[in-house]
Amino acid sequence: MATSRGFCFGVEDAIEIAEAAVAAHGAGKVVALGPVIHNKQVVSKLEQAGLNQSGDIETIDPAHAVLIRSHGASPETMQRAKDRGLQVVDATCVLVKRAQNVVRQLHEEGYHVVMIGDPEHPEVQGVIGYAPDVTVVDTGSDLEAALPYKERLGVVAQTTHSPEHVAGMIAEILKRPYREVKIVNTLCLEVTRRQEAAIALCSEVDVMFVLGGLHSANTKEMARLCRDAGTDTYHIETWEQFEPRMAAGKKVAGVTAGASTPEWVIREFVEKLEEM
Ligand code: SF4
Repeated sequence: MATSRGFCFGVEDAIEIAEAAVAAHGAGKVVALGPVIHNKQVVSKLEQAGLNQSGDIETIDPAHAVLIRSHGASPETMQRAKDRGLQVVDATCVLVKRAQNVVRQLHEEGYHVVMIGDPEHPEVQGVIGYAPDVTVVDTGSDLEAALPYKERLGVVAQTTHSPEHVAGMIAEILKRPYREVKIVNTLCLEVTRRQEAAIALCSEVDVMFVLGGLHSANTKEMARLCRDAGTDTYHIETWEQFEPRMAAGKKVAGVTAGASTPEWVIREFVEKLEEM
């Protein structure tokens, strides 16, 4: 098992805040704006405890409280919640909040803000709301297509991206004739530690199992890094998706998990694999 794996403090905090909100407001009276974290097992446990979920703030009953998940939300969404009279319970991770503040500050200092991240990811969609006209780039071709010429660029990254990917993108940006490029490191060390531990484990095993939600950005990134390290890698959510062919002919298996995967999912997987 990877020495660093599974739940990060941001996810633990978000779950605690969600549970406390349901205890304070009552079952069925708190609505999360999207899944609290990218893990189906945890989300369904919270639902059983009485947390509702909606993807649209306009459909939430004003008598209920709205829970902002660990990925955060744009200022526009926060304002909309207040305008509708919803009580806001904010479970945004402190590191995502920092990225939001950095984007606002860079804009106020006169930089054109560039975010290296997946434009479809809810964290990115929230963070870019903190400045007008943020350019989001995630690949070299995005740079070609979208990066405008501005004298001063301020660069941040999605918290869950790998330092290696972000460094590559920054190197590409620096090849262009910008007069000033200010880079603020918004990467999450919790994620970096898990990535490093997974890569280290790859050198000791024949196959890697990366456990976590199929939509979880940090889990997907970890699986990609393991594959890039040359190890057969499977990204699955739980033991239910395990197939014997995945371990056929392998002697040593490595197991790690994304930042939104609870320890019981990891333990159950390892126990079943050992039994097999
Ligand atoms: S992975 Fe990092 S940024 Fe994301 S919730 Fe966890 S601690 Fe926060």
